[in-house]
Amino acid sequence: MSKHLGMDIRVPIECDNPSIQRDEEKCIKCGQCKNICQDYIGVHGTYSLEDTLDRAVCINCGQCANVCPVSSIHETYEYPFIQEDMKNSDKIIIFNTSPSVRIALGEEFGMEDGTFVEGKMIALLRKLGAKYVLDTNFSADLTILEEGTELIRRLTKQTKPLPQFTSCCPAWVKYLEIYHPEMRNHLSTAKSPIGMQGPTVKTYFAKKMNIDPTQIVNIAVTPCTAKKYEIKREEMCDAGKYLGIDNMRDMDYVITTRELAKWAKEENIDFTSLKDSKFDSLMGEASGAGVIFGNSGGVMEAALRTAYEIMTGESAPINLLTYTPVRGLDDVKEASVDMNGITVNIAVIFGTKNASQFIEKMKTADKKYHFVEVMTCPGGCIGGGGQPKDTKYQGD
Ligand code: SF4
Repeated sequence: MSKHLGMDIRVPIECDNPSIQRDEEKCIKCGQCKNICQDYIGVHGTYSLEDTLDRAVCINCGQCANVCPVSSIHETYEYPFIQEDMKNSDKIIIFNTSPSVRIALGEEFGMEDGTFVEGKMIALLRKLGAKYVLDTNFSADLTILEEGTELIRRLTKQTKPLPQFTSCCPAWVKYLEIYHPEMRNHLSTAKSPIGMQGPTVKTYFAKKMNIDPTQIVNIAVTPCTAKKYEIKREEMCDAGKYLGIDNMRDMDYVITTRELAKWAKEENIDFTSLKDSKFDSLMGEASGAGVIFGNSGGVMEAALRTAYEIMTGESAPINLLTYTPVRGLDDVKEASVDMNGITVNIAVIFGTKNASQFIEKMKTADKKYHFVEVMTCPGGCIGGGGQPKDTKYQGD
């Protein structure tokens, strides 16, 4: 255990980073990567290499890559491996797309920021070689149900401590494991939408479609570089365990929004003139609640609405939550909601450094919180490390 901040460096801190790569020759020493890692993520400057046995601490969020003006830091490209797999005619290529990709991908092709390009995104994936294109919002619904019912158990049966922290952001999960290991029991036990989509495709979808799961190449298209790390965690092999198949990962690859655009440009595909296509029907439809996963507050609100309906037997009102900023903390907002006579206090946080300050404050505050959402990136996944670059974070 490191002497600094109670950090637990037994959590894997990779030598070969699965999320980002550095090309030192391109670096212009602007310091933007250091600034965001230190000021917003809360990692740079918190440890000494002596304590970590010369290993850099990284929570894989990719914000350094997102702010790097010369792409000296960029995501670890996985699409060349997919291209190799596509040469094998036995392989069945399945893409699963996260909500924030369809509203950001167009920017990479000169379209106006925020243009909804779901149909063109699906058409692009089919043109690149997809046999099936599925919507990760399907599993976002599963995550919402799991997180909502877990909250009810914690509230009514005290099964685990409160507050319950959301667990769908893998960079936040890793941050908590390293910097606040004493809070592990507070993390929701629910896997993220991609964590659930992976095994569901290789079990449920494969069975329904009469496909051998070992033939599936399962690919997540995400705004997030941390998902490249998440799918390699040891607990992400549940389909293989369930089916008795060794060495089978639930999700095989993750490519980011930027990476998908790079691949399409290399293939000379004219994205803007593609004719809209649709998701495949099985696991291509969802309630729509998962769409708000892309914004901070979305996960918690969707799960809370589910918990509200189960506990009260009534539909949650549209204006269920009225947020106010938490005094003294940046990018933290809070609200309260009455559920069957229980006042449930919730908080929503952008940025792991802010989350760390919130946790320290929470430990001594009189106010008790019940449900807290943390998303690492500015604005949530919509500002993910693998999204089109913009100037949302200016640094010092
Ligand atoms: Fe990934 Fe979203 Fe977390 Fe950013 S906020 S690290 S994009 S899950």
